[in-house]
Amino acid sequence: MIEKVDISLKRSQRWFWPDFCFLCQGRLPADRDLCAGCEQSLPRVQWGCPRCAAAGAVVEGGDAICGECQNHPPAYDGAQAVFRYASPMDKLIQQLKYHGRLELSRVLGGYLAEHLLALDDPLPDVVIPVPLHVSRLRERGYNQSFEIARFVARRLHVPLDWEGAKRIRPTVPQAELPRDQRRKNVRGAFTTSEVFFGRRVAIVDDVMTSGHTVNALAESLRRSGALDVRVWVVARA
Ligand SMILES: [Zn+2]
Ligand SMILES: [Zn+2]
Repeated sequence: MIEKVDISLKRSQRWFWPDFCFLCQGRLPADRDLCAGCEQSLPRVQWGCPRCAAAGAVVEGGDAICGECQNHPPAYDGAQAVFRYASPMDKLIQQLKYHGRLELSRVLGGYLAEHLLALDDPLPDVVIPVPLHVSRLRERGYNQSFEIARFVARRLHVPLDWEGAKRIRPTVPQAELPRDQRRKNVRGAFTTSEVFFGRRVAIVDDVMTSGHTVNALAESLRRSGALDVRVWVVARA
């Protein structure tokens, strides 16, 4: 575990402030990652279910949960997503996740942190990234959720714990499975330490699609005695 984290940290030191917009390659003013036009085009969530962050129509009052959460309440208490997983956000996430563009973790982590700070909700005791299985981590060389979570934790001044949760068996990537097999695929995939007993935990991930992955992790955190479990993602499909 320690060895893998070291690899991840070493690689992530390559991040830098770019001269060109990540999306359109247009020239950028200082301290910006995307040009104003591209930033405007990002698909921000207008209304998300407070429980699972699924995008929906704006609800008066804004605190009603979606039908899916009413029928099948998830193991986590609430979720926040900044964007819908749609163009051009999907491109940025894929660049980070599959093409080693680690500098994007600062950009995406920055958007997530800004969103959370603006909510002004009580902060958790600890932030954890969704862990990758050792085999996947070796293959990819880094965990994009960890890279994003680092920036969020630092910005919010909340401790980051990258060792308390582990993925104990390799799973087929959820995106490669039909919807009805995704829950079973990740069930029991995680183990979490007793350090989370009585604590309020926020799980950070890049994308949430069916929600089964974070739900399986939240179930494990509950078994470890976590008091409150939130899910924070950059984008929600
Ligand atoms: Zn641009
Ligand atoms: Zn919901």
